Amino acid sequence: MRKGKRVVVIGGGAAGLLAGIAAAQNGAGTVVLEKKAVPGRKMMITGKGRCNITNTCAIPDFIRNLPGNGRFLNGALRRFTNEDMMDLLESHGLPLVKERGGRVFPASGRAQDVLDTLLAILAEAGGRVVTNARAAGLVLKDGRVTGVRYCNVEDDGRKEGQDYRSASRRQEKLGPVHVLDADAAIVCTGGASYPGTGSDGNFVPVLEKLGHTVEPLLPALVPLQPEEGFTEGLDGLALKNVRATLCDNGQAVTSEFGELQFTRGTVAGPIALTLSRTAARLVHYGNQGLDLVLDLKPALDEEKLDARILRDFQEDGTRTLAEAVRRLVPQPLVAAILDAAYLDGAKAVSQVSKQERQALRETLRHFSIPLAGTLPVEAAIVTAGGVSHQEINPKTMASLKVKGLYFAGEVMDVDGYTGGFNLQAAFSSGYVAGTAAALEDTK
Ligand SMILES: Cc1cc2nc3c(=O)[nH]c(=O)nc-3n(C[C@H](O)[C@H](O)[C@H](O)COP(=O)(O)OP(=O)(O)OC[C@H]3O[C@@H](n4cnc5c(N)ncnc54)[C@H](O)[C@@H]3O)c2cc1C
Repeated sequence: MRKGKRVVVIGGGAAGLLAGIAAAQNGAGTVVLEKKAVPGRKMMITGKGRCNITNTCAIPDFIRNLPGNGRFLNGALRRFTNEDMMDLLESHGLPLVKERGGRVFPASGRAQDVLDTLLAILAEAGGRVVTNARAAGLVLKDGRVTGVRYCNVEDDGRKEGQDYRSASRRQEKLGPVHVLDADAAIVCTGGASYPGTGSDGNFVPVLEKLGHTVEPLLPALVPLQPEEGFTEGLDGLALKNVRATLCDNGQAVTSEFGELQFTRGTVAGPIALTLSRTAARLVHYGNQGLDLVLDLKPALDEEKLDARILRDFQEDGTRTLAEAVRRLVPQPLVAAILDAAYLDGAKAVSQVSKQERQALRETLRHFSIPLAGTLPVEAAIVTAGGVSHQEINPKTMASLKVKGLYFAGEVMDVDGYTGGFNLQAAFSSGYVAGTAAALEDTK
């Protein structure tokens, strides 16, 4: 007579591995189905290959750093904390280091070591990973899960996913359908970002058919896309200590202070990524007229900024306006600032009027870049949207629609900022789902 429950985890990423570990450690016969040739492909590219596993901040700060329904994870983050995650890895021989902003990495600097450690813990607990196995659906009886349908899928094992552009949604060659009997299934299929890593939103139609609401999969933590021509000549420029405000038809929506980078015709860097979540939502819901408005001198108030400009002008009256502006902003921005302020860069500063000085000041304060939107979800570090958290029990991650069905990780409508928050969200929800799936009475 079988003692433990049979738990099938769908998806062998961060959430799936923790779900598998927790289910197996709690006595369930556990199988993790992974459609790629190897599990954890996305984890391998996290933190630029170093894997920013978690963050040492307190739980309330964690929740603040999960703008996508972080409060829903309050219980899970407390049940399986960042400390628990660090203990789990360290107690299995993986030394960790803490860096700037509480970010935690493996001391080796290799994401592979994190993945190998998790796979070893799963194997030690008796869990099994089946690769090249794509879950295609669930088998239900009387409204509860009794099995998982899956097909073998060809994956050539190429190291896809490093660059989202190379990660095309290739036609997968599917083999015959198998059924794996199960008392519970945990869906950990991730979002739709970097599809070459395996998380491509393929399981969404199955979940919708089961009656779950799936909030639109939108990019979060993704470069902003300026309207054509507006950032020409700025590629390679990095701006530090600027304030960037996202404006919708002139109305400020949200604002961030920090660093921006202009790259490949997009605006990237930490504060652009943070603002992108809101920008993507606004575009998705039809808002037009988005601008990124930069305050290039946020440390100076009006008076100090004017005094600073005047001082530059008075130092050498023969200096051209372009030369004076160069003393205020990096060279690639000079022409753009002069154009935006309708000023003639060849004019000697001694000839510049008070009104012209005011126009310069205003442009330095409100340098506006019209936005077409963001890069697509495929290019995003995280996917916002997913299975509505309102249909998931926050204590167990159990579906409120189907008995024996659980969720964990990015497949849910939870998303966070950079800093280790997304992986910890996946680990905590995975652990809670795995434990509940193994122990709860789903009959
Ligand atoms: C470039 C990049 C860098 C990042 N860096 C960090 C970082 O340093 N720190 C951090 O906290 N977060 C980081 N993230 C975010 C983090 O990687 C994700 O939030 C996290 O991996 C989500 O875990 P998950 O298990 O929910 O999904 P995933 O890791 O995406 O795993 C989902 C798995 O499910 C599999 N799958 C999908 N459908 C099926 C199916 N039908 N059948 C079987 N298997 C299936 C996929 O192949 C995949 O392996 C980064 C993301 C990117 C793209």
